[in-house]
Amino acid sequence: MLGRLILPLLALAAAPALAGELGHEHHAHGAHQHGVAQLEVAVDGPTLTIRLESPLDNLLGFEHAPRTEKQKQAAQGLLAALRRGDGLFTPTATAGCKLNEAKVEAPVLEGRADAGDHADLDADWRYTCAQPARLTGMKVGLFAKYPGLKRLDAAVVSGKGQAAFRLTRKQPFLSW
Ligand SMILES: [Zn+2]
Repeated sequence: MLGRLILPLLALAAAPALAGELGHEHHAHGAHQHGVAQLEVAVDGPTLTIRLESPLDNLLGFEHAPRTEKQKQAAQGLLAALRRGDGLFTPTATAGCKLNEAKVEAPVLEGRADAGDHADLDADWRYTCAQPARLTGMKVGLFAKYPGLKRLDAAVVSGKGQAAFRLTRKQPFLSW
């Protein structure tokens, strides 16, 4: 009698653990939903920091290590464009913000990771603003450049507190 009770209990206990493990393997960086990416914006005095975490598919149309020459060029082009930062973000013009550091990591593209089913790209940009008091928002240019990106869940932390935004192609503006 006891044996019959224990077996179903063990099966119940094991099932969520197994599901959790599989889930972790396929979503190594947390939420990974094609078309959606996360943006974190921090405003601290003259420093504007932006962090993007996106499925590679949104930006490139594939998420495996590049195989063909065309894929290799697309991957290198993406990394270079994100590192240059041109037109990706447009902070309030009168604040005089200049991009002074960009860091982009996509291990799958750089041959540093085994490709799983999914792969992310993480990027950080740091701007310094000459007139930080005038900095009240920015336009996000990622939608125009990367049609695979449909939605950005953005969080802003500034001197005024925290705010969350859901940005889309039709509404690519953040304000704080
Ligand atoms: Zn994916």
